[in-house]
Amino acid sequence: MNSHIQGIGMTSQRSRDRLVDQLRDMGIRSELVLDAIKNTPRHLFVDEALASRAYDNIPLPIGYNQTISQPYVVARMTEALLKKGEGLGQTIKLDKALEIGTGCGYQTTILSQFARKVYSVERIEALLNEAKERFDKLQYGNIEAKHGDGKHGWPENGPYDGILAAAASTGVPEDLLEQLAPEGRLIIPVGRSGAQKLLLITRGAEGFVEKRLDGVNFVPMLGGTS
Ligand code: SAH
Repeated sequence: MNSHIQGIGMTSQRSRDRLVDQLRDMGIRSELVLDAIKNTPRHLFVDEALASRAYDNIPLPIGYNQTISQPYVVARMTEALLKKGEGLGQTIKLDKALEIGTGCGYQTTILSQFARKVYSVERIEALLNEAKERFDKLQYGNIEAKHGDGKHGWPENGPYDGILAAAASTGVPEDLLEQLAPEGRLIIPVGRSGAQKLLLITRGAEGFVEKRLDGVNFVPMLGGTS
């Protein structure tokens, strides 16, 4: 790895190790997810002026009134999407995954380490273009991202084993449920600002099963594009 990707000073391996220790203490169990966090250069997904804070467990501004998610939340959502069965702690690879809200592309690249192919939809074109540039530069070859309203998913490539929404919706969009494969999982923050919960919804043989996880604080899922 060159020093640009590896990072120096506050973006060094030592700050990454410290972050991963924190996430483990906060209850992230999957060592594979923790490894992905450790190996992904989060400092290259934010403005250079913020790079020294990239391995703090906090959300950071990425422009356009949006934020890069907090590392704990990224780890938590990824782990929830992957965990096969309660208590097994077993991590499986997904075939196709869909992400709503590409943002700076950080969560996308974490997800891309656990899926054969990741599709991602972003409603702000400028953010999408910046994220696409990063995917190319960092050579993540299994990501396809498009400009659009993610409430409607990306039906042409479905169904998906996993769908991750990185913006909060007031209800669960019907189109996202429809695009889940059998046994597929959808993780989505639901509720109004200040009262959001992460929901994990599994498409079982008998219908959708819903589980409530942590309280969270995401930017809202907006309609249309910009
Ligand atoms: N995972 C991202 C989080 C970005 S914040 C990251 O780590 O950077 C959430 C993103 O969802 C924002 O970029 C916002 O523009 C986008 N978003 C909000 N509503 C959307 C919608 N309906 N369709 C697609 N993207 C949406």
